[in-house]
Amino acid sequence: MNNYIDNFADDLGPEKVVHIYEPKSKLRAIVVIDNISLGPAIGGCRMAIDVSTQEVFRLARAMTLKNALANLPHGGAKSAILADPRSENKEVLIREFAQAIKTLTDYTPGPDMGTDENSMAFIHDEIGRAVGLPKVLGGIPLDALGMTGYGLSVAAQVAADDISLSLKGARMVVQGFGNVGKAVAQFLDELGVKLIATCDSKGGIHNPDGIDISQLIQMKLSGAMVSQSGLGKPVNNEELLKIESDIFIPAARPDVFTEANQNQLKTLLVLEGANIPITHPAAKSMYKRGIMIVPDVIANSGGVIAAATEYQHLSESNAFDRVKSTIQNNTKELFKRMLKEGIPPHEVAHNMAKERIAQAMSYLAHM
Ligand code: NAD
Repeated sequence: MNNYIDNFADDLGPEKVVHIYEPKSKLRAIVVIDNISLGPAIGGCRMAIDVSTQEVFRLARAMTLKNALANLPHGGAKSAILADPRSENKEVLIREFAQAIKTLTDYTPGPDMGTDENSMAFIHDEIGRAVGLPKVLGGIPLDALGMTGYGLSVAAQVAADDISLSLKGARMVVQGFGNVGKAVAQFLDELGVKLIATCDSKGGIHNPDGIDISQLIQMKLSGAMVSQSGLGKPVNNEELLKIESDIFIPAARPDVFTEANQNQLKTLLVLEGANIPITHPAAKSMYKRGIMIVPDVIANSGGVIAAATEYQHLSESNAFDRVKSTIQNNTKELFKRMLKEGIPPHEVAHNMAKERIAQAMSYLAHM
């Protein structure tokens, strides 16, 4: 335990790091509740085989900052069920996970990589606590509506204005054609941005004339991989990162760019769809090279804003309005402060979030 404290702990958290093991089903899971000074934590529950405690902590911290920036009355947390999301006993694992977190009442899970609204319905059935539920249970279907992708397109409009980039005809590369990637590609396509390259875990395609997004979505739905679609020249996932673009959207995994490979990225604007896709030192170097980045904690907050709207039993249209106004305001404030303070975007965004958390923490009793 000391090790976690040495490695992670700072003045914000984490409040709790919980490791779960259930011998019968072999459920293994990690929950990190980072900071709850603004209210009970909301954060995704991921299902994947290769998630470390440190990664869950970093994702939980991103939720603390994201929820604070979005002015939500919620703290940050994250969890991971260490299993293949295609496991035959997925429902059993999810239900056992729900029972294991029953007493962690400061944590309400939402969908994340490898989980969806059905998973949240199972958790809700077990313990009465989950967001991102199916519509029939009062949920706002975040992924079906493309809430996070919509928020990214809002950030794109503010950022493009600020760096004088015309969205009409701009070239975008989307890493990860999943829930977030598909939705942002569609919303930006409506604004005239052209998808020139995208991928999934098995490889990608490049087509400088523009990829037909609806056709690619149909092919993915019928089970094809992006590289098999025939809608562009096949490229591997490393090559995709080097394709020149105007807008690059990482929408797959953390730590895609580190200091070792950040110089490969040739773009003007990055919208962080994934959580922590660029390490902070790498982001600093990119900023020095003139690449503008709208950090994850601002750009991809559409999903959690919609989840918090669902938590308050409000409607889909309330969720769209909130996503738009919150991300618009935060992106404008980000650019204003960057210009004034001359510091990189992640530092500015974190300062914006920490100011709000510090204010809330000042009201906590000191035992
Ligand atoms: P998803 O599983 O629907 O899609 C992920 C996509 O990335 C898939 O196409 C997958 O094949 C691809 N991928 C996986 N590993 C890859 C690799 N190594 N290289 C290239 N592509 C790879 O997941 P999602 O819901 O779209 O989430 C994507 C990212 O966005 C995650 O980091 C998630 O935490 C973050 N995020 C999601 C939401 C949301 O509302 N879904 C909100 C905020 C942040």
